[in-house]
Amino acid sequence: MSKFEVPYKIYLDEAEIPKSWYNVRADMKNKPAPLIHPGTLQPLKFEDMQPIFCDELIRQELDNETQYIPIPEPVYNFYKMYRPSPLTHAEFLEKALDTPAHIFYKFEGNNTSGSHKLNSAIAQAYYAKEQGLKGVTTETGAGQWGTALSMACAYFGLDCKVFMVKVSYEQKPFRREVMRTYGASVTPSPSMDTAIGRKILEDHPGTTGSLGCAISEAVEVATSTPGYRYVLGSVLNQVLLHQSVIGLETKAACDKYGIKPDVIIGCAGGGSNLGGLIAPFMGEKLRGEADYRIIAVEPASCPSFTRGKFAYDFCDTGMVCPLAKMYTLGSGFIPAPNHAGGLRYHGMSSTLSQLYHDGLMEATSVPQTKVFEAAEYFARCEGILPAPESSHAIRVAIDEALKCKETGEEKTIVFGLTGTGYFDMVAYEKFHDGKMEDYIPTDEELAVSISKLPVVD
Ligand SMILES: *Cc1c(COP(=O)(O)O)cnc(C)c1O
Repeated sequence: MSKFEVPYKIYLDEAEIPKSWYNVRADMKNKPAPLIHPGTLQPLKFEDMQPIFCDELIRQELDNETQYIPIPEPVYNFYKMYRPSPLTHAEFLEKALDTPAHIFYKFEGNNTSGSHKLNSAIAQAYYAKEQGLKGVTTETGAGQWGTALSMACAYFGLDCKVFMVKVSYEQKPFRREVMRTYGASVTPSPSMDTAIGRKILEDHPGTTGSLGCAISEAVEVATSTPGYRYVLGSVLNQVLLHQSVIGLETKAACDKYGIKPDVIIGCAGGGSNLGGLIAPFMGEKLRGEADYRIIAVEPASCPSFTRGKFAYDFCDTGMVCPLAKMYTLGSGFIPAPNHAGGLRYHGMSSTLSQLYHDGLMEATSVPQTKVFEAAEYFARCEGILPAPESSHAIRVAIDEALKCKETGEEKTIVFGLTGTGYFDMVAYEKFHDGKMEDYIPTDEELAVSISKLPVVD
């Protein structure tokens, strides 16, 4: 690859924004297991999901067959505000590492939400509007999803109710204010506004909340308020579908300059950015047209792929949501309070779980101090202040590049840089002050939450 010149930033033209999303499930032999009803344990049908989700999004959720799904024009137009996103040749990082590897990253932080989440938020808001709904509810942890959704709802004139995990609500007042700037209402979770919130507060007084708990509250409000539905920013098949715009652009940029990735790396919380980034590459792999090493990176303190169980589990703490078959630590699992690196969700996308189970991708976990070391190193080389979540991928990209230095291999590494870290300075501060610790759960601790998985078969 050293033989050809690639620009530092590969920008596609506006006309090269993909016109359709790619649905990797269409090319999977073993389809992801269906969502099942928590009471009957039967696969959920369209009608079962209607009280919770928007109609068109349910169709997308259930569609394992259609390879390409057209991007509606209003969504495409919104994409034009911040897409195509650049694929950057990390030449300053390569130089600093003195590696023969070629490193590229796809940067999704160039929009106000500061992350890739806007790619799906705008699609979900569009379908809600098309259906004539009044508004949507959701949860947010660190705040990126809530911000993305409030931007999308403002654009389409929808009401947006966000339940924000209490610890983030208190630690990230600026995130909250960004959401309110876009017109969303933001409630710290658990709250007294919902039955499930009141129950959680009664059972765990003083709890600072969790994503699973905020999901339960948002679903309760959506299903009990006429004209509202619930939307989710990760994990679901539909979200991976929308995020395929990341991978399609990456593939187009690579093809333009004859770049052939050997290794593709992404951080994995619920799996949406990784699922989107790898989608077209995984498609080639599934169809036997090409081969790639694909690596999911997760926090050592919330290791669903590497130490979880592949089983049906609840998507939320309140156990009101459908069950998904996925790698999970159990819906009662809450990462240690000192975990600052994001990616705190207990489960993982069913699609990625199936691909991982079938040996089509790898997973690894990294402790948070190593993640922040990589974040700081990257910031100093490439100028961008990365989100802690994204820095999991940076860590492993750097490690792979250093391996190439030892072996002299000239591999091409592509990783997803999902967002910026401006709202994560409390975590950076902890790291700089030497107060960040690596808490890795013991097998016994994980066994406790895993033993509470619902019995399905
Ligand atoms: C939400 C988020 C993630 C993790 O979510 P996935 O669904 O696993 O992609 C990663 N990076 C950033 C910046 C995020 O906001």
